[in-house]
Amino acid sequence: MDNTSELYRDLDRILITREEIAAKVRELGQTITADYRGKNPVMICILKGAAMFFTDLIREIDLPLTLDFMAISSYGSATKTSGVVRILKDLDKDIVDKDVIVVEDIVDTGITLSYLKKILEQRGAKSLKVATLLDKPARRKVKDLYVDYMCFNIPDAFVVGYGLDYDQVYRNLPDIGVLSPKIYES
Ligand code: 5GP
Repeated sequence: MDNTSELYRDLDRILITREEIAAKVRELGQTITADYRGKNPVMICILKGAAMFFTDLIREIDLPLTLDFMAISSYGSATKTSGVVRILKDLDKDIVDKDVIVVEDIVDTGITLSYLKKILEQRGAKSLKVATLLDKPARRKVKDLYVDYMCFNIPDAFVVGYGLDYDQVYRNLPDIGVLSPKIYES
């Protein structure tokens, strides 16, 4: 899809191009490969937003890793967090004694990730780290949240594309863009 297509008309601007994403994801894959040398990490994809990031990232990690998937809901169709996090789909396998890497799309207030970390920490993993594609530090409400791996710091704007949605749409945009406020204000 090129950026003259219909979905791009709803963006104010492109924030991160597909080339910039690919370069950063490759770099992060190399970092994780080096950090986990000799280990078999379990990579956990937080559906649906992290799906694109996850599938690209795992192909840049040169380790005998395994995958699992979890679906949670914290947003509904609004652009502001509700503060309520629900597990819609849990992991297939237990993570006892495993080196776990949780792969998230974006950390905004931090409420979702801090909740997730809490419940996964209770499940007996050997180690637990978090990799996020995007971070919006200006909006953080959970102050003591530590994010181990992060690709891009972004300003306080509502972004879509590369897995991120608004009302389930725009996930298939190859780039990440700022959604025009008229889309969610109308
Ligand atoms: P938090 O709990 O950190 O406030 O929110 C995390 C979740 O909110 C993310 O996993 C994502 O689903 C959603 N979210 C936060 N900011 C954005 C944004 O700018 N765009 C989109 N599409 N989702 C967001």
